[in-house]
Amino acid sequence: MIFFTGIIEHMNHKVRPLDPESKPDDRVDNALRPQRLGDLIGQDQVKENLSILIEAARRRGEALDHVLFYGPPGLGKTTLAHVLGNEMGVSVKVTSGPAIERPGDLAAILTNLRAGDVIFIDEVHRLGRAVEEVLYPAMEDFALDIVIGKGPSARSIRLKLPHFTVVGATTRLALITAPLRARFGAVYRLDYYDLDSMKKIVRRAVGLLKITADEGGISEVAGRARGTPRIALRLLRRVRDFAQVRADGVMTEKVAHEALDLLQVDPLGLDDVDRRVLKTIIEKYGGGPVGLNTIAASISEEQDTIMDVVEPYLLQLGFLDRTPQGRVATRNAYQHLGLEYSEEGQPRLL
Ligand code: ADP
Repeated sequence: MIFFTGIIEHMNHKVRPLDPESKPDDRVDNALRPQRLGDLIGQDQVKENLSILIEAARRRGEALDHVLFYGPPGLGKTTLAHVLGNEMGVSVKVTSGPAIERPGDLAAILTNLRAGDVIFIDEVHRLGRAVEEVLYPAMEDFALDIVIGKGPSARSIRLKLPHFTVVGATTRLALITAPLRARFGAVYRLDYYDLDSMKKIVRRAVGLLKITADEGGISEVAGRARGTPRIALRLLRRVRDFAQVRADGVMTEKVAHEALDLLQVDPLGLDDVDRRVLKTIIEKYGGGPVGLNTIAASISEEQDTIMDVVEPYLLQLGFLDRTPQGRVATRNAYQHLGLEYSEEGQPRLL
């Protein structure tokens, strides 16, 4: 239920963009965003499912069903939301869980949508409870329940909304409440990209940014980007800088190798933070198990960053195990860091 005054108060609020002070790098990122399903590289299964969803909605002349994307940051969730809007020929309003502070904020957005429009809610697991409760009937019945007046004379009216589509994105599926999750008709997990797709993504960006590069340079960047397009694009820009300043402007394998070494990105794509996490577990806590909060405090990093960005990749590489007692570094992690692993004194994995 929303109080009427709440709506008036927030009616003129503009949806806060995700990053109000977009930096030059972000603008390059936006310019590189694939616009249509056919431009998207990799994630073949998700693409195929989406193409069916889109085609079915188009044939029925309906709005798309609500879609939820989850997976580590930088894999294309925002991009996919825009692609869905483009494919359906509708506009996409971008917001995020923390930006929608009050039910009135949400009402202001929803009452400004046209039929079929997409509202993209990033970090959808961070929506407040009161906001979520307004979102449920909005997603299910396309209606807002509004209370006019106060006390005994208060009465409730139902405002009909046009049929719209919520595209939610989250790095933490487990934090989404069951009722919210149940309202998404389609839920897709985005996985790290394989090397071949990463090379295609880097090759495409090299072309669009008019960078002079050879295949060796492209492979080097793609291979160290931990299966994440956003990281690949960031590394590419830094390697391009390096090529311009320290070489003759051409991104060869040697140039890329030197630039990435200087950036402390190792051949598997681990950066300084990843290595600090592993070294802390190994050197300070005898390989673990150690709690996430202890690791975060030891290296002065946010727990969220470790959970969303660092851990999923270390888990995927098999460098880290999660046990009920805490995080444990595996033998492979020791090997990668060139540290000696001895069975003695190592925690027994559960
Ligand atoms: P997320 O929302 O999951 O954090 P984004 O959608 O912002 O990730 O993607 C990050 C960047 O990676 C975008 O700028 C986009 O250009 C690029 N990107 C993501 N997915 C792909 C893809 N499948 N093909 C090509 N580029 C991609």
